[in-house]
Order: sequence, then structure tokens, then C-alpha cells
Amino acid sequence: MATVGAGSNGSFLDETEPTVKILLDERELRQGVERLAGEVNGHYDGESLTIIGVLTGSVVLLADLIRLLEMPLRVGVVQASSYRGGTEAGELSIQADFMPDITSRHVLLVDDIFDTGNTLVEVVKLVKELQPASVATLVLLRKTGRQQVSYEPDFVGFDIPDEFVVGYGLDYADAYRNLNYLAALEPEDLNRTI
Ligand code: 5GP
Ligand code: MG
Repeated sequence: MATVGAGSNGSFLDETEPTVKILLDERELRQGVERLAGEVNGHYDGESLTIIGVLTGSVVLLADLIRLLEMPLRVGVVQASSYRGGTEAGELSIQADFMPDITSRHVLLVDDIFDTGNTLVEVVKLVKELQPASVATLVLLRKTGRQQVSYEPDFVGFDIPDEFVVGYGLDYADAYRNLNYLAALEPEDLNRTI
């Protein structure tokens, strides 16, 4: 795996890019999103759909995915945050004020990563209370061996190893969302200040 972003002095703090291992490059991500879009187009077969992105990690995926979808589409967002700054999961909070009316509509929830699974399960529960016609879920990434729930997402882009990843929407302490590749942060980088 490639390592990028190490400065001449190996320092992290004075570089804009972290020292990272690239897990999925731009081309692989694009191919994965195209594959997911193909599956979603096939599944809904022209039926109108409401996509709901789980903020903030899904924004990059959401933007790329919706432009490949062919059915009549509405887009909304819901905010769910469990990571408080670093890599430790805190208490989950869901902010649904900006969610569109989904009663009797087909809903596809889109999130960046399926880790323990608790976030998506809670958001699915909340969405179901609003009586949509159906609820399905799509994640770009699923971490191997981490799930604490029996639920599985309907559409999965990539299975990845159990490492803390950033880029393509995913953050560490709100940084790195804009990387156009997906990278694993080295454990020693997780303790540094950005
Ligand atoms: P879960 O509830 O499935 O454990 O966690 C889902 C949420 O945790 C994701 O939407 C994401 O915000 C965050 N998360 C889980 N694993 C990672 C990771 O490796 N990197 C980043 N940046 N966020 C993660
Ligand atoms: Mg998230």
C-alpha cells in the first residue's frame, strides 16, 4: 500500500496531508459508486425514490451517487453523530429537522460506513416511524468483523479491514473529508493534533 503526504522531515503537523495508507483510490471509488448506482437503478426500476443522506460523512458519496440515478428522485438529509472528535463512538444523536416528507414514499438511506451498525439501525427505526412505502439502506463501506447488530445494509460498496479510515467524506476530527481517495490513518497519527 502506498504512503503519501510524509514531509521531508516526516512531520505530520506542518503538512496539509496526513501520512496515510491508500485503501481505495479515486478510480476504485468511482467504479464502486457506479456499481452501486447500477444496483439501485435496477432495484427501483423507474419507481420514484427519496434518498436520505446521513450527514456528514455521506455528502461526497451522495453527490456522486445521485447523478448516476435514473428514477425521479428527491434528496434529503438527516444528521447522526456518534463520533465526538476522534475515533471513539460517543452517544448517538439524530437531528431530523431537515428530513423531507417521506410518508408513502420509497426511501433509500445512504451512509458512508457501516461499522458497529448502531447508527444505521437507529436511523432506520426513526424513518420507519414516518410510514414510508419502503426503507432500504446503502453504505459505501462495511468494516469487517465490527457489527453489533443483526441488520445488514441492502447495498454495500466495499468491505474493508477494521482500520480507521478517512477521505471521500469521512473525517478524523472533522478533517480530511475532502481527500479524493480513502485512506487508513496510522494509529500514531490518531493521537496527533491537526
Ligand atoms: P456505527 O454506528 O456503524 O458504528 O458507526 C457509523 C458511523 O461512525 C459512520 O457513519 C461514521 O460517521 C463513523 N465511523 C465508523 N467507522 C469510521 C471510520 O473508520 N472512519 C471514520 N471517519 N468514521 C467512522
Ligand atoms: Mg456518519
